[in-house]
Amino acid sequence: MPRRREFRDPIIRISADRIRFPDLCPVCCRKAAAHSIVAAQPGSQWQGARDAYWSRRASGPSHGIIRTFSVPVCNSHFISDDSEWRGRSLCMLMNGIMVAVLLFATFVAGGSYWQGRGVPSWYAYLLTLFMIMAIGSGLMMRGQPLQRAINIIGFDSEVRYVWLDLKNREYREMFLSENRVNAELVSWIVTT
Ligand SMILES: [Zn+2]
Repeated sequence: MPRRREFRDPIIRISADRIRFPDLCPVCCRKAAAHSIVAAQPGSQWQGARDAYWSRRASGPSHGIIRTFSVPVCNSHFISDDSEWRGRSLCMLMNGIMVAVLLFATFVAGGSYWQGRGVPSWYAYLLTLFMIMAIGSGLMMRGQPLQRAINIIGFDSEVRYVWLDLKNREYREMFLSENRVNAELVSWIVTT
């Protein structure tokens, strides 16, 4: 079922091949000194306000493609794909180990409880530690400042147009003036 999604701050609709990113960092608006890759997978298909009448093909040519954009950034917000990937996989590994430890500890604590000796005090410490780690990895998985500054809302069914939510207002103004011919502000989209 097509659904309408509204945005309080209008988002940008732009031809994916014609994007010109300003020579500023999207996070802090300082002069850019490097390039970082922002990637998105056109998964579920999106249709913009103007394209709402388009009929969607069952499986578009876009399926499974990862679309990347090379974005100028400052030195402090530069991220290499490598370090991010390493950080995330380490995070997942640690969580896996922690879940296994917690499961084992729950058996031990449960056994002690059923034998009438109560829940051991170390179990509470372990639970607290687990919670801290879960919150920490949640923050990490939420993505880097760059991903939040350039939020890729979606693509049309042909992956010719992309909808971007740029968080930094100053950067957004610069982006719009840089892409005056191609960019268009929309305040709602239709998702299928
Ligand atoms: Zn920056």
